[in-house]
Amino acid sequence: MVRTRFAPSPTGYLHIGGVRTALFNWLFARRHGGKFLLRIDDTDAQRNVEAALEPILHGFRWLGIDWDEGPDIGGPYGPYYQSQRLERYQAAAEKLLADGLAYRDYATTDEIQAERQAAQAEKRPFLYSRRWMAETPADDERFAAEGRQAVVRLKMTREGTLVIDDLVRGRVEFEWAREQDHVIQRTDGTCLYHLASVVDDRDFEISHVIRAEEHLSNTPRQVFIAQSLGYELPRYAHLPYVAEPGSKNKLSKRKLDKYLKNRDFAQVNEHGLAIAQALGLETSADTFNPVIVDFYEQVGYLPEAIINYLVLLGWSLDDRTEFMGRQMLIDNFSLERVTKAPASFDPKKLWAFEDHYMQELPLKQKVATMLTYLQRAGLVPTPTPCDVGPKLTRIVEAAGDRLKVFGDILAYADFFFQDELTYDEKAFEKNLGKPGAPELLTKFREVLAGVEPFEAAELEIALQEFVAAQDIKAGAIVHPVRVATTGKAVGPGLYDCLAILGKDVTLARIDRALKRVQT
Ligand code: GLU
Repeated sequence: MVRTRFAPSPTGYLHIGGVRTALFNWLFARRHGGKFLLRIDDTDAQRNVEAALEPILHGFRWLGIDWDEGPDIGGPYGPYYQSQRLERYQAAAEKLLADGLAYRDYATTDEIQAERQAAQAEKRPFLYSRRWMAETPADDERFAAEGRQAVVRLKMTREGTLVIDDLVRGRVEFEWAREQDHVIQRTDGTCLYHLASVVDDRDFEISHVIRAEEHLSNTPRQVFIAQSLGYELPRYAHLPYVAEPGSKNKLSKRKLDKYLKNRDFAQVNEHGLAIAQALGLETSADTFNPVIVDFYEQVGYLPEAIINYLVLLGWSLDDRTEFMGRQMLIDNFSLERVTKAPASFDPKKLWAFEDHYMQELPLKQKVATMLTYLQRAGLVPTPTPCDVGPKLTRIVEAAGDRLKVFGDILAYADFFFQDELTYDEKAFEKNLGKPGAPELLTKFREVLAGVEPFEAAELEIALQEFVAAQDIKAGAIVHPVRVATTGKAVGPGLYDCLAILGKDVTLARIDRALKRVQT
C-alpha cells in the first residue's frame, strides 16, 4: 500500500515550491491507488496554529489536491498534528535511552560551542567528546548536583558508511563519522522534529518519503533513529528545488525584491498587483507575491494551469508533451522521471499555461467566475440585475483570448458597468480636444442614432460609409468615439463595444463627452 505525506509547518502561507512537493506526493499516491496524508509539523510551540494553517489548507483545496487523512477529516492514524503526539515521541526517546542508543547529556551550550570552536581552530571535523554524557545514575546525580540540566542526544554510530538508495538521486553515501549526536529531546521534555518525523512516518505507515532535497542531509540521523527503534525504513525520494529565476538557489518568499529585477517576474507581479488593488486587497509582499499560491488564486489563475506548470518543474512525461490534465498526470506520474537538477520557476511560462487553460474553459464557466470578480470590485451590485449576465457573456465572447486570468475582466470591461464613465484624461484631451473632432463626433452621433439593428456588423458598415463620405481616415472618428464611450484609448473591438453598450448608452455617453469638451 502506497502511503505518502506532505508535512507543512503552519507558516501562514502556501509556497509554490511546497505545492510542487505536495503535488508529487499526491500524484504518486493517486497513481498507485494509495493514500495521501497531510501531517502538521507544529512541534515548535506556536500560538494560532489553526489560523496559520488555514491558508495552506485553503490553497490545497483550491488546487484540488485533496488529502485522505489529516486536518479537518481526521483518519484512522490520527491525530495528525505533531503537537498532539508528544507522548509517542517521548516514549520513543525513552526506548532509545533504555537501549543505549541515546543518552542524557548535561553539557551547556557554551561547552559544546567551545568544543566546536576548538575543532574549527584545529581544522578537524567537530565531533562531540561526550564528556557530559551520563552513563550511570550516579553520573546523573553528580551533574544535576552541579546545577546542570540534561537534553537527550542520539548516540550516533561513528564508523562506517550509510548507503541510501534514493528514488530520485540514486545511490547516496554518508560517512557516519560526519554525523553529530543530534538532540532529540529538550531539557523541558519536548521532542525535536527529527524524532517526531520518524515516529510519525512509522505510525502513519508512510511507504514513501517524498520531500525537498534540503532534507537529504537529515536522512542519516532519521535512518539512525528509525533503525534504532527497529522500524522498517520507508523509501526516500528527494526532489530537486524549485529554484529562483536564473539560478539554482531555492525560491524564497523573502527575496522578492531580487526577483523583481527579472522582467517576467516583475511583469507578472505588477499585473497581479493591479488586479488586487482593483479588488481592494491587502498587497504587502508578505502575503501577496508570486512565490505564494494565494497570489494566483486572488488574481484569478486556473488551478489546472498551476498544476500542469508545477508538475513540469522536475518531472516530464517525455521530451515533448506539455499540456496534461489531472487524470493524464495521475495515469503517468512516476518518480523515475523526476530530474535531479533544480528547475527555475518561470512565471512567464506559467502564464503560457494559464493562457492555454483559460482558452479551453467553457464560456459559461468563464462568465460565472468573472462575474464574481466584478462583484468583488464593486463594478456590479449584488444582488446582480439579470441583464448583467447576458451582457457579460457578450463581453467575454467578444474579448476572445484577451482575458488570460479572471481578474483581467476588471481592467478590460469596467467601463461597461460604470454609470458615470471615468475618462483617461490624456486620451480625452488628445482625441476630443483637437480641432474638428467634436464637430465630426456630433455628425457621427446622428449616423449612429439611425443604425438599426445596433449590432457590430451594421455599425461597421455605418462607420465605413461615414469615413468615405467625410473623406477622413478611420482613426479620425474611431478614436474619439472610443474615448467618448469607453473612457480609454485602447480596449475591445469598437463595434462590439458599442453594440454591447446599446444605442441609448452609446448616444448618452457621446452627448456627455461633447458637453464636457464644450465646457
Ligand atoms: N515540515 C518539514 C518541512 O516543511 C517536512 C520535512 C519532511 O517532509 O520530512 O520541510
